[in-house]
Amino acid sequence: MQDLYRTIEDFVLQAVSVTCPECEVVFATETLAFTPNMTKDSAVETDLHRVLPHPALRAALVAMCPACLYTTWYSGFAEDPLFPYLAVAPAEVAYSKKFAHAVLTGRKIGAHHLDRALFALNGSWCAREAGESADKWLELAGQELEAALNDESWAGNRSRYRYIMGEICRLVGDFHGAVRHYNQVDRKSQLPKSLVDHQRQEAINGNSRPVLLPPSYVEAIFFPKPINLDELLGPMPTSELEKSS
Ligand SMILES: [Zn+2]
Repeated sequence: MQDLYRTIEDFVLQAVSVTCPECEVVFATETLAFTPNMTKDSAVETDLHRVLPHPALRAALVAMCPACLYTTWYSGFAEDPLFPYLAVAPAEVAYSKKFAHAVLTGRKIGAHHLDRALFALNGSWCAREAGESADKWLELAGQELEAALNDESWAGNRSRYRYIMGEICRLVGDFHGAVRHYNQVDRKSQLPKSLVDHQRQEAINGNSRPVLLPPSYVEAIFFPKPINLDELLGPMPTSELEKSS
């Protein structure tokens, strides 16, 4: 009997059965049963993604129907109580390829460009986690994200995605495009200005390599501290202190 769980570093994958919403086939897939919390020391790159220790972990974020190839986020499938080793076996595709199928499904069902961009971006990260080239993935993510940013009706955090777009351009070596996008990032992105300035300089210097975020930036971006009013108000005037004593 095969084990339902497998552990990769501190992450736990679980074999489960799900129903395809498109063709209703019940098939086996893996889902992330446990993800260790992020800390300021987690490996995060400047495009704001957490580096995972194995491509199977990222691939488990999506499920792919082996019968009709419908592929989307795992949350888009209903779980089925059938023991997973009795269900239809998962399609045998490379981890990153699942994200290509997710982009295809997104196109078929008319999903928004941002959703398609996020599948492509995850494909690029999964490819790198598998030791494969990410260039084609980044080009695809760039096309979809550009289309999402040009959609006036889309109300997402445009400024933060401008920054991501800058990173995509930088990583594919389009340094002019990268600078153009970094220049459109404002405080609504809720990103440290020094980070945006640093990445713009990296683009100007012609650096197309992935860059790890220092822990202080991971902390500032992913664990923002509540604003301490005492710090803003400054020390209380002496007269006030006297009154309260
Ligand atoms: Zn299906």
